Amino acid sequence: MQKLKEIAVISGKGGTGKTSLVAAFATMANHPVVADCDVDAANLYLILHPENYKEGKFVSGHKAIIDYNACTHCGLCMAHCRFDAIERKVQEGFPKGKITIDDINCDGCWLCSRICPEKAITMVPEDDSRWYIGNYRNGKMVHARLSPGEENSGKLVSKVRELAKETAEAEKIDLILIDGPPGTGCSAIASLTGADKVLAVTEPTGSGLHDLKRIMELAGKFQIERCVVINKYDLNRRMTEEIKQWCSKENISVIGTIPFEPDMVHSMVHCKSITEWTPDSPISAVVKEIFERLII
Ligand code: SF4
Ligand code: SF4
Repeated sequence: MQKLKEIAVISGKGGTGKTSLVAAFATMANHPVVADCDVDAANLYLILHPENYKEGKFVSGHKAIIDYNACTHCGLCMAHCRFDAIERKVQEGFPKGKITIDDINCDGCWLCSRICPEKAITMVPEDDSRWYIGNYRNGKMVHARLSPGEENSGKLVSKVRELAKETAEAEKIDLILIDGPPGTGCSAIASLTGADKVLAVTEPTGSGLHDLKRIMELAGKFQIERCVVINKYDLNRRMTEEIKQWCSKENISVIGTIPFEPDMVHSMVHCKSITEWTPDSPISAVVKEIFERLII
């Protein structure tokens, strides 16, 4: 068995065609593990349709709950909460007003639970988010669902990466394909950490180049081998040239340019990758060539 290789596919923003490309790679590779690390907008499962055989809870943080049998409504917690999550509300039966905690504003810092003189505040885990491991038609898939309102997507991405690695090692699989989140936030950092190679998918626009510079700079800090694909390159050939020149100056290889092709969207609508939808088309030939260059 070859050494395990982890390849992350990222983009500066959503909608660049990143997930379409990952879906194509996932259906072309030789039995890989696919890790959907775009946990805030996970949609790769809609194309790959994994049959999950393992599921787990993810604790994204904690929230504060008041025990009204113990609370004296003294207001000490309210005075100290730096997130303005605690308020005193006018309510019948509460002469001083009722102290309440707003779940949305509560950052789960634990301060109020530690300073309450009556020990009336308990921190409870927020565990509505889930991770899954499943089989799809060409390999294994690890993905997750971040519950609405829950945060810590960087931590959830790290969990997905960890599970993908464990699955690859247990199944003697030598390739992990990571569908990373857009941008340069903590979940993007968690997607890149420890990866062997990063592919950035961009579009030929001014903002595409601007975003590309930011994510490539981030990947550069991790000293990961970097490469780029320009999607819909024919919509703005001048910008495509500009992106190529910038990449060449930065020693980043452009491993492919993909023309605008409505079948990229049609294939997704039919829950197929482009190489499954039109296997013998010119667009699939381009994507196959990109994949071959990517996994070298
Ligand atoms: S500090 Fe404790 S007792 Fe005072 S208002 Fe807050 S929860 Fe109630
Ligand atoms: S846990 Fe922190 S943020 Fe949440 S209510 Fe208490 S003090 Fe405020």
